[in-house]
Amino acid sequence: MDLRTPLKQITGIGPSLLYRLGRLNLNTVEDLIYHFPYRYDDFSNTTSALEAQIGQTVTLQGEIWSIQNIFTRSRKIITKAVFNDGTSPIELTWFNSSWLTKQIQTGDRLQLSGKISKYKNKLSIIAPKWEKLSADLQTPQPTGAPGLHTGRLVPVYPETEGLSSKWLRTKIDKLLPQVLSGIQDPLPDQIRDKMLPLTEAIQQVHFPKDWKEVEKARERLGFDELFYVSLATQKARAEWSKKPLIKPLKIKRSDIKDFISKLPFKLTSAQEKVLKDILDDLKENQPMNRLVQGEVGSGKTVVAAVITYLVCKNNLRTLFMAPTEILAFQHYDTLNKLLSPFGVKVGIYTGSKKFTSSVIARNVATKQSSNSNGKIATLPSVARNDNGKIPNIIVGTHALLSEKLNIPNVGLIIVDEQQRFGVGQRTLLRSKAEIPHFLTMTATPIPRTVALTLYGDLDMSVIDELPKGRQMVRTYVVPEKRRADSYKFIAKKIGAGDQVYIITPLIEASETLTSVKAAKVEFDKLKKVFPDLQLDLLHGKMKGSEKAKTIENFRSGQTDILVSTSVVEVGVDNPNATIIIIEGAERFGLAQLHQLRGRVGRGTKESFCFLYTSNSSSDEQNRLKFLETTFDGLKLAELDLKIRGSGQIFGTAQSGRFEFKIASFSNLTLLEKTKHEAEKLLAKDPALDKYPLLKAKLQDITSGVMPD
Ligand code: ADP
Ligand code: MG
Repeated sequence: MDLRTPLKQITGIGPSLLYRLGRLNLNTVEDLIYHFPYRYDDFSNTTSALEAQIGQTVTLQGEIWSIQNIFTRSRKIITKAVFNDGTSPIELTWFNSSWLTKQIQTGDRLQLSGKISKYKNKLSIIAPKWEKLSADLQTPQPTGAPGLHTGRLVPVYPETEGLSSKWLRTKIDKLLPQVLSGIQDPLPDQIRDKMLPLTEAIQQVHFPKDWKEVEKARERLGFDELFYVSLATQKARAEWSKKPLIKPLKIKRSDIKDFISKLPFKLTSAQEKVLKDILDDLKENQPMNRLVQGEVGSGKTVVAAVITYLVCKNNLRTLFMAPTEILAFQHYDTLNKLLSPFGVKVGIYTGSKKFTSSVIARNVATKQSSNSNGKIATLPSVARNDNGKIPNIIVGTHALLSEKLNIPNVGLIIVDEQQRFGVGQRTLLRSKAEIPHFLTMTATPIPRTVALTLYGDLDMSVIDELPKGRQMVRTYVVPEKRRADSYKFIAKKIGAGDQVYIITPLIEASETLTSVKAAKVEFDKLKKVFPDLQLDLLHGKMKGSEKAKTIENFRSGQTDILVSTSVVEVGVDNPNATIIIIEGAERFGLAQLHQLRGRVGRGTKESFCFLYTSNSSSDEQNRLKFLETTFDGLKLAELDLKIRGSGQIFGTAQSGRFEFKIASFSNLTLLEKTKHEAEKLLAKDPALDKYPLLKAKLQDITSGVMPD
């Protein structure tokens, strides 16, 4: 057995476990070994019942005197046991665990860990963790009892239904000694020498002797993660910039002027600044590789339109990919409006069944483009427009990635909301052209420190200003007791013709998160609160065509209140919506709340954002109150980073790029250090020829995420 061994070959792992492991993305022994704990239960305080203090978390060794299931009046099952470590009896209580009486019997010797409490004058532990004392554990040890699940710093892992930390712990403990010696450290000697050896770090992150070991192990593993990504992005940057364009663009100043002067508005100075960055790139003989950040509505699409025009003037095509059909049609519409007066042909390719796309086309595109002829160029198999010619610009969803689609002469590729695309999709799109200029756009603010590592291969521009006349949305953290008042306020505003969003964190009610509001439940409840109003429901599990219809009904004013999950974050544009209520605000990052808030204040009317939270701690209240006074997305993202660490903002799904299990972007020193080491190494050996292991490692983490 080695690291590459598939888990299905491990004895004891059958199909159902394999399926559950798959849900955690664990497929090989290596995946499991690199499935790190996200926290530890400190059960290292081994003591006696007599010496334990109330409120202390301790580990005890002793015997079960009795155990039984008790049925309560509300038909719940409680398992009660009496345990004695020889100094004092302790009552143990578990809830909903009736199977325990099959696993633990009177007379069994256990080691158990939990928090000591006092109930009806008896010492007691609620839901203790336990394991049986096997023969070699029979004699209590004076310093730190042995054991895997108790009596130590016990690792707690990301779990999934039917796959507990206890199971993971047991398996990892068994596999580690068999594979650890086969793990090779890819780090160059000169860096490795200063650090904890990799194998020790892996051993200690799972089974640390003390907190010091946790810290050391995490430092080493965190360094690795950031270092490899730093190295990969810096190497990619160097290589990308060496590629000569096949046909450098000729940019005529007069074309730019001509186009900009015919826009229905004046560009903001932020737009001009970013446009200049891009034009500087386009004048070079190397391909552009730039990320434009700018809040929703900051005018990214318009900037994109200017350069697609210039590319078109060079007889080259543009592929423009958006994450949803709705957005694709919006872009199609915007670009069509801006570019068709210049004779530029825009097409759309979403790959969905003709019916769906024509419905969306009718609902979304024709409504907005009353000045265009209302014709939508759908491109059934190959992108062609009405007269059989391939358009200059093809806007689409991930359908653009389809092998069937083969567009000649692509000079520019644009990816909107790039973080929404999964691993590999951007690269795949890029491969649709030989050496294209590449522009990615995002409305998600990325703090500079993060960007330097995560997007170290890209140049970066920020549109940090909104067009004039945009509203500041009046934002309030509302205490629960004022809820009725705010509902009255809503009703009044709706009476005056306004529309309202109500956002919940979940779609359906959850058994484990009982205090968290779910859209479906809230929808039913609100229908009773507002019996005379028109309510509708939107969430991510609905079909594309249903979503489009719901959004269209809201936009056309038929719906008064749209109850929704955070799916509205992207692509719903209704200037008549003036109030957004966000439930369970504690479950969102500040930057995300800000983005949600951006759904209102898009017209000329005064707009409001009400935040509700079930977390009344002063920390949480203060966090949310930042939104009352701060309207800068980037600043809020940086606050998120400070308050919650990177995990919240850059979970795997959201970064869409690299996976970080340990590293935190809030550790500035470590970020600097890894970046510096990566630079040093690449300066000496740009192709990393002297480090085959390192090269292989980079291949591993970048395959499908970055171009070769
Ligand atoms: P983004 O893609 O960044 O969300 P868009 O490019 O779609 O933003 O622009 C949002 C809206 O603002 C569009 O209706 C667009 O026409 C308008 N807009 C863009 N730039 C300006 C500007 N400089 N002045 C006024 N309105 C603008
Ligand atoms: Mg946009």
